[in-house]
Amino acid sequence: MATQTTTGTRVYDCPICIGGEWRASAGRRETLLNPATAEPVTTVPFCTPEEVRAAVDSAQGAFETWRQVPVVDRSHIFFRYRELMLKHSEEIAHLTTLEHGKTLQESRASLGRGIEAVEFATSVPTLLMGDTVGDISRGLDTVTIRQPIGVCVGIPPFNFPSMVPMWMFPLAIACGNSFVLKPSERVPRTAVRCVELLYEAGLPQGVCNVVHGTKEVVDVLLADPRVKAVSFVGSSPVARYIYETASRNGKRVQAMGGAKNHLVVMPGCDLGAAVKAIIGAAFGCTGQRCLATSVVVAVGDVADPLIEELKEAARQISVGSGQDPKTGMGPVVNAAAKERIERYIAEGEKEGARLVTDGRNARAHDDTHGYYIGPTIFDHVRPEMRIAREEIFGPVLSLIRANNLDEAVEVVNHSEFGNATSIFTGSGAEAREFAARATAGMVGVNVGVPAPSAFFPFAGWKGSFFGDLHALGRDAVQFYTETKVVTSRWPTPAREHKITF
Ligand code: NAD
Repeated sequence: MATQTTTGTRVYDCPICIGGEWRASAGRRETLLNPATAEPVTTVPFCTPEEVRAAVDSAQGAFETWRQVPVVDRSHIFFRYRELMLKHSEEIAHLTTLEHGKTLQESRASLGRGIEAVEFATSVPTLLMGDTVGDISRGLDTVTIRQPIGVCVGIPPFNFPSMVPMWMFPLAIACGNSFVLKPSERVPRTAVRCVELLYEAGLPQGVCNVVHGTKEVVDVLLADPRVKAVSFVGSSPVARYIYETASRNGKRVQAMGGAKNHLVVMPGCDLGAAVKAIIGAAFGCTGQRCLATSVVVAVGDVADPLIEELKEAARQISVGSGQDPKTGMGPVVNAAAKERIERYIAEGEKEGARLVTDGRNARAHDDTHGYYIGPTIFDHVRPEMRIAREEIFGPVLSLIRANNLDEAVEVVNHSEFGNATSIFTGSGAEAREFAARATAGMVGVNVGVPAPSAFFPFAGWKGSFFGDLHALGRDAVQFYTETKVVTSRWPTPAREHKITF
């Protein structure tokens, strides 16, 4: 599906998928631009309510047969899917860079983390094992079994076009559920390709459906009684809305929200390693990551040398198109994001923070004219400033000075968010204390981006998460299944010796 624009650029018309068939939506369409060049590359539809309900019909119909497919056969599909994803990984990485803007290296790395979630899903026969006790009482045996729950919905954000959808649909489907995916309307192409490959791997028609749009489409899904579970990842206000609405409508919900992650630097740490990690964590993916470090808390006399080294390292980052291998940092996703981030930089100056590196008016090294902002660093930020409190979601780093670990922990824990936090230290005692006291869901020790692998749960605390069971790991297996306890007694002929397990 592609049309030709007047300038000759090929524009891909994103299809929807209902019942395993790809087709055009009857809804209105918007044109999406390549963030590195501002040229049109995709049109995305906004599905009609009838189309959304048809996707749920399809998922509901497919569920009844899919749930009966033996779990080992279900897992075989995901073994094949993993191979296909690896085979097409360059193509998918290029798609992600085209529509999102991140560098090819970043697109490849995040796809790799998505494929890791598929690997986790292949172990579903083991993950679904329950507990058994023979003779829990005389002649009675009890077992727990895990059963799929029905139609699950996934609503991912724009910033990881392949990885976050793959946190959701592979495990949900491997557990025996059917799925409706509504990719981010800003980056829909990568997700479409990922689902096309799932069908190529042998998924029966209708088990995974794709609709496009935003609030109106989500609202139809949240109101549909056939939808049993909603996995959401995005900003905190929307996460809260999804959590409240879906749970009011009787669904289980896991809603991952926004973040403001702090990284504490202690005197005596390996400063070189800390600088490298901070630069990667603050400016990787152009700061558009829920695990991005956006505040450094420098303790004691480490602040002055740290800010000098950060300034120098930031100066060396070349901004440009993500397709160019010489690019260190790609554009932000669109014009609105660039304007929002620049407003925050102006606000930081107004609030009295010292702007030591200003990324506004950044020029791309490859002369592309996209939505560029260079690395930006503020020193002498105070915790009450907006740039220290609010999620900017761009390449803007604030440095707060603290006198000791207690003060640093207070700054970290004061945040309304609690996604992730890290400490760089040479002291095991400091690391241990920090890990115990920090009010965040993911903690790093001498690690800039403490992203757990797919075998562990992933989510924050406080305003960064609404729900109980986190994404990935065993939490997600519980989320996508219902536990049943079966207690059995079978009449036993009278014998001389009683038989027990
Ligand atoms: P967003 O909240 O704008 O959108 C997320 C999804 O919700 C999209 O699919 C969108 O179509 C839909 N949506 C938007 N507004 C809606 C509404 N009013 N009602 C119902 N649905 C709506 O988020 P985004 O800008 O796409 O992504 C960036 C955000 O995601 C950041 O805040 C980032 O921190 C967060 N994020 C969090 C995690 C995590 O694990 N906690 C991971 C990645 C991204």
